[in-house]
Amino acid sequence: MQDFKRIVLKLSGEALSGKAGFGFDDEVIDNICTNIKTLSLRGIEVAIVVGGGNFWRGRSGTNIDRASSDNIGMLGTVMNGLRIQGTLEEMGLDTRLMTAISMTEVAEPYIRRRAIRHLEKGRIVIFSAGTGLPYFSTDTTASLRALEIGADVILLGKTGTDGIYDKDPNVYDDAVKFDKLTYKEILQRQLKIMDTTATSLCMDNDMPLIVFNIDDPSNMVKVFEDQDLGTRVKESF
Ligand code: UDP
Repeated sequence: MQDFKRIVLKLSGEALSGKAGFGFDDEVIDNICTNIKTLSLRGIEVAIVVGGGNFWRGRSGTNIDRASSDNIGMLGTVMNGLRIQGTLEEMGLDTRLMTAISMTEVAEPYIRRRAIRHLEKGRIVIFSAGTGLPYFSTDTTASLRALEIGADVILLGKTGTDGIYDKDPNVYDDAVKFDKLTYKEILQRQLKIMDTTATSLCMDNDMPLIVFNIDDPSNMVKVFEDQDLGTRVKESF
């Protein structure tokens, strides 16, 4: 088992919606939460950043200004956060849902020191509402929160791919998967794995990333044991 004490797990909204691609898939969410439980019971401090693409993506809004559209997207991530929290609590885990947009009736406001304290006490912390700012993404949120809380690594769960390829493996038969890659290479090759804000934030602050296939949620546990699974990204190797 690789020695990671504190991790940020980035779950896209899409990962929660299964084949439907919209809303919640109960079975899929159960499976994801079961594996989060495994990580937590192994003593790893788990913080989760949830996306919202299973409900709304700001950039796909029409007849609405971008900032308002992004606010809708961020509210979608709170719904996902509540859903994951509910299942984790049903499984007997202690959790805290935090939001970057204040809504104290449903979740705690994001306060960095409190988040760290929760993790130290073994609680699973779920970060929702992204950064609280329009024009950003939940990938950027994952990078930012990972740095803020001093995480050892970001686990980026992807649907439909088992790592980073030199070109789209669903289009090109000769696409080659990278086992290791630097952030600089991602930017130079313009690989669309995270947005450039998230990528450069990780690069500039030396935050390691593991990209893995969340279609099989047990991969979030296996990546710690099997170095060949997924793609590992660092500032340098
Ligand atoms: N969003 C935002 N600021 C943030 C994070 C998210 O405005 O800091 C909005 C944005 O509209 C985005 C939506 O929330 O499209 C859902 O997040 P994202 O697309 O990152 O979710 P994912 O693709 O991971 O499901």
